[in-house]
Amino acid sequence: MSRIIASAAIRGAHRMVERAEEALAKAIEEKGKDCAVAYPNTAYYLPIMYLFLGQKVEKLGDLEESLQEARSLLHDVPASELWLPYLGGALDAGVATLLAEETIEALKCVTGPNPVDGIWLGYTDDAILRKQGIKLVDGRMPGFAAIVGCTNTNQEAVDLVRALQERSILVFMAGNSGGRAIAEQLAEEGIEMNWDTFLVPYGKEITSAVHALNFAARSAMTFGGIAPGDIDAARQILLYNKDRVYAFVLALGSDPDVPEDQVITDEKYATAAGAINFGFPVISDVNIPEILPSGICTYEHVVANVPVAEIINRSVEVRGLQIKIEKIPIPVPYGAGFEGERVRKEDMHVQFGSKYTDAFELLRMKPADQIDDGKVEVIGPEVEEMTEGEAYPLGVVVEVAGREFQKDFESVVERRIHEYISCANGIFHMGQRAITWVRISKDSHAKGFRIRHFGDLLVAKIHNDFSTIIDRVQVTIYTDPEKIKEPLAAAREVYSHRDDRIRGMSDDDVDQFYSCVLCQSYAPNHVCIVTPERLGLCGAYTFLDCKASYQIDEHGPNEPVAKGACIDAEKGQWQNINAYVATKSNGNLQKFNAYSMMEDPMTSCGCFECIVAIVPEANGVLIVDRDHQGITPVGMKFSTLAGQIGGGVQTPGFIGIGKLYISSAKFISADGGIERVVWMSKALKDEVAGRLLPRLKEIGKEDLFDKIATEEDAEAPDPLVEYLEKVGHPALTMDPMF
Ligand code: SF4
Ligand code: ZN
Repeated sequence: MSRIIASAAIRGAHRMVERAEEALAKAIEEKGKDCAVAYPNTAYYLPIMYLFLGQKVEKLGDLEESLQEARSLLHDVPASELWLPYLGGALDAGVATLLAEETIEALKCVTGPNPVDGIWLGYTDDAILRKQGIKLVDGRMPGFAAIVGCTNTNQEAVDLVRALQERSILVFMAGNSGGRAIAEQLAEEGIEMNWDTFLVPYGKEITSAVHALNFAARSAMTFGGIAPGDIDAARQILLYNKDRVYAFVLALGSDPDVPEDQVITDEKYATAAGAINFGFPVISDVNIPEILPSGICTYEHVVANVPVAEIINRSVEVRGLQIKIEKIPIPVPYGAGFEGERVRKEDMHVQFGSKYTDAFELLRMKPADQIDDGKVEVIGPEVEEMTEGEAYPLGVVVEVAGREFQKDFESVVERRIHEYISCANGIFHMGQRAITWVRISKDSHAKGFRIRHFGDLLVAKIHNDFSTIIDRVQVTIYTDPEKIKEPLAAAREVYSHRDDRIRGMSDDDVDQFYSCVLCQSYAPNHVCIVTPERLGLCGAYTFLDCKASYQIDEHGPNEPVAKGACIDAEKGQWQNINAYVATKSNGNLQKFNAYSMMEDPMTSCGCFECIVAIVPEANGVLIVDRDHQGITPVGMKFSTLAGQIGGGVQTPGFIGIGKLYISSAKFISADGGIERVVWMSKALKDEVAGRLLPRLKEIGKEDLFDKIATEEDAEAPDPLVEYLEKVGHPALTMDPMF
């Protein structure tokens, strides 16, 4: 450890702890020690305290203890001649700094100023953590960068984040350099910043950088099964993050107008020391002292003097990220970082579909000799012949051939069209099949984006991702309002055939299910068993998806598992499935029931779309989706429930599920099935109505739908039971749940 950095970090930590102590004293004087302190929607209290100290901070008074711990970690600033051969003092200073920064940021939620302000987003709640977590799991996001400071020019800032987005790297932004922050530069350039675009501005003060680290801390606890407050927790987080979370810090500020001591201040060194505790290296464009490899990161801890234009390549190298940049032959940037981007009406050049025009997407297999590989044909007007601000039809027909390709794969590959098109910068895409909605922005139009580029990018992506099963791809795009009619009618027929097939599949008809272990990169003991009637809990993997995925890559995350002898048909337990799960969960799970949530239920990794929870007073269950922010009738929010059931452990009475499972005939069938559902969050109920109503009709129970309460009817057990009595809900008179 360079002694300059060690002294700066220790000095910075002293100052930060003092600041936190002052802020706390002031808050206590104003509000008293019993005043509650919490971040919004989290089950992890103040995550840094929870992880490092095992402390569940709930009141201002609790923070006194946290800061005492922080203070005890402060060493004396080393005398300037002293040579420190190891990182100890600075690492402790780093932890002290994080504890102090967490205190300062949390106090803002009590006394203000509100950390959520303008472009600044403040703390990331658990719902977003889980949603983004899955992207880290399945590789859509290779890692994250925390940017502190600003670049010399706005253009450099734009180029830098565009390049990170193209590599699908999540970007956190915090702090400033000489009063200027990169997020402000991006805002001036009209760049959209939010979780969907992978650009997350936390706050202008350096203290808000702690949110990137409490995000990493919660990932370690949620997915890595690291026990909070374990005396070994610090080492475990380091190992977990070092092996699984590819993150780095970019400390920027080479602006010649900014005095040097304001560029990388002592507080920033102290925060950097905090990041090094997580195994995250710091890369800077400023001439700061370097720290070369030693025990902590196994790679360089601090690398200085890297020009902004080269900083990404250098960071990727230092941190060892696996990045595949795809060169897609279109005139706009392309990458997962653009997937969630919206195109607002004012920024739109033309649009297609939604309620305005006909639009659809279809992927079909064809004999190889009927496909001219790479051919893209546009039938109807090109963008040049369209009027700005107008809506036009858009029918996209993708035809593929490959010796290994099967009809079952059509819908699997077709479903990827959404992701493929959305990843183009300045293109908005929503929906699938015949309910698509697409916009081309003025900016991408100006850069030369045309209708035919939809075809070009689909050809490139499909070849790229499905080379083992697809040899030829051609695309026909209809923009003519008359000529789209016939292919649209044909597409509708295909969709309805497919639905009949999937609906016709039942668990009893197949001898084998599929496994998914994709989430093991984060939740090492979790295995999903995916059956025709119960999809993976993340909602992204159906039986057919897993089957296709296995055929595409035998060594991938999915494989067939023969059911073997049936142990209990009603509860859904089979000998081979048990044996498989026992092995793959590293012995943590010996058996499980596919159709019961009460007895040996399936485990959850953390990325479930919904949670089903028992409501004992109502003799039934509730289902809440992750976007629901309010309290549920079991007295817990989604985030609290989620905190209790993730991490690959069985929690009878609670399961994580995918939305499609709600309308399945096997939905908790061993516990009484769909009639047990007494409450659903409103948005979820609306969303699944399209499938749930036909299902209820099938079993002659259409009236059940209206009897299921939502937050508009009740948010606590007693009013819920009252409501259920009023509407005559069947759960009240069913057998006791346990
Ligand atoms: Fe993770 Fe299960 Fe989804 Fe696979 S199916 S990605 S293991 S949640
Ligand atoms: Zn998962």
